[in-house]
This record gives sequence, structure tokens and C-alpha cells, in this order.
Amino acid sequence: MSYDWLAALVFLVVLVGLTLAGRFLAFKVPALQQMRELNHEADRTKLSRKRFKDAVKASNRAGLITNLAFYVAILPFCLSLEPRPFWRHGVDIVAVLMVFDFFYYLTHRFLFHGKLLNKVHALHHQARTPTYIDALYVHPLETTIGLVLFLGSIPLIAALSGAPLSAYSVAIATLIFTQVNTINHTYVNLPYFPFKTLDYITSIHAAHHVDMKRGNYATLTMLYDWAFGTLEERVDRSTA
Ligand SMILES: [Zn+2]
Ligand SMILES: [Zn+2]
Repeated sequence: MSYDWLAALVFLVVLVGLTLAGRFLAFKVPALQQMRELNHEADRTKLSRKRFKDAVKASNRAGLITNLAFYVAILPFCLSLEPRPFWRHGVDIVAVLMVFDFFYYLTHRFLFHGKLLNKVHALHHQARTPTYIDALYVHPLETTIGLVLFLGSIPLIAALSGAPLSAYSVAIATLIFTQVNTINHTYVNLPYFPFKTLDYITSIHAAHHVDMKRGNYATLTMLYDWAFGTLEERVDRSTA
């Protein structure tokens, strides 16, 4: 086990580069740009409330501190730049994301919607018809727990596989984690090809925001909701 700062730096550069490039390309598509404007308009109204804006700032601060601490103290021990077969990248990305989603499902269902953290989670659930900014309208404690669950799955998979993970694989897993967690809160009403998957991701989490109790507790895939019988019907955006 070594402290590979170069691998951690490559991870950061790849993650930021892919995020910026993806955003630049995605909003060249007129339908997506139109949805972005709709979200911005709703977000501006929400952010005009001081309490809302302060909550978003507090969540961002908690996220930054958690990310920085992990980035400096743990991540360099879990990454390397050693080449590996293509299939191994795929296996590691899926493993990190599925392990995180499993623990997130349990935490969300039994802690955030249980007696212990119900009040903490209630802040995020003030959003009945979520838009982009609601992904950040989260109590700082919830932000930290969610991030620790994702970040913790990186050393866990590295330990289980007996070697550091590829900096590139972890950058892609992190990109998917951050993007799906944000995208699933946006308002999207594009129920036709090629936007059907995007439409599904956003409307399935919107159903979770309708009330506090019914289902759709996982955040990346609906596999665990389906397996444990908590899968809820998506919200129909043409009427809601
Ligand atoms: Zn949510
Ligand atoms: Zn919830």
C-alpha cells in the first residue's frame, strides 16, 4: 500500500475534464438546453429565499470538507496508474457503484426514513416537485453520510480486490455517481427517443419526493427497490 499522489492527481484531472466536457456537449442539444432553462428558472425562485440559499451553502461546505479530507488522507492509498485489462475497469466501476447503491438504499430506507434521521432528511423532502437545485438542498449531515457511503466504497472494493483501483475507473465511477445524483433531481419532460432513459431517471426519483414513505430509496439504479419490493411508479411529467 503506497501513497500514490500522482494517481490521485490524474483522478482529479480526468474527473473535472470529463465533467466539463460532458456539460459542454450535453447543452449543445437544444432539448436539453431548454430543460436546463426551465430548471434554472425554478431554481432562481427557490434560491431567492435566504433560508434555502443558506441550506445549499451549508450542504456544499460539508461536501467540500468531506471530499477534501478523503482526497488527501485516503484516496491516494486506493489508486494506481498501473495498466489493467479493459474488462477489469468495467468490473471495478460496477462494483463501486453497486456497493454504494446497496448501502445507500439501506441508509435511506431505514435511517433517513426511520426514526433516527427522519428530521434531518425532512429538509430535502420539502421539495415536492424537485428541480436541479434540490440535489443540493440537503442537510449537511445527510450530505456527509451520503458522500462517506460513496467514498467508502472505493477503499472497500480496493481491499476486497487486494490491490489499488485504477485512477481512471474511479474517476468514471465518481462521474456517474455525481451526475446521476444531480440529474435525478432535475425536471425533465422528454418522453421520447433518445431521451427516454434520462426521462425515466428523473421521474422515478421525483416519485420518491411526492411523499416520505413509499419507495424508490436507491439513487443510482432501481435494482434494490425492485429486489426488496419498494419500487414505486414514476411520476408522469405531462400531468405533474
Ligand atoms: Zn431527492
Ligand atoms: Zn427520502
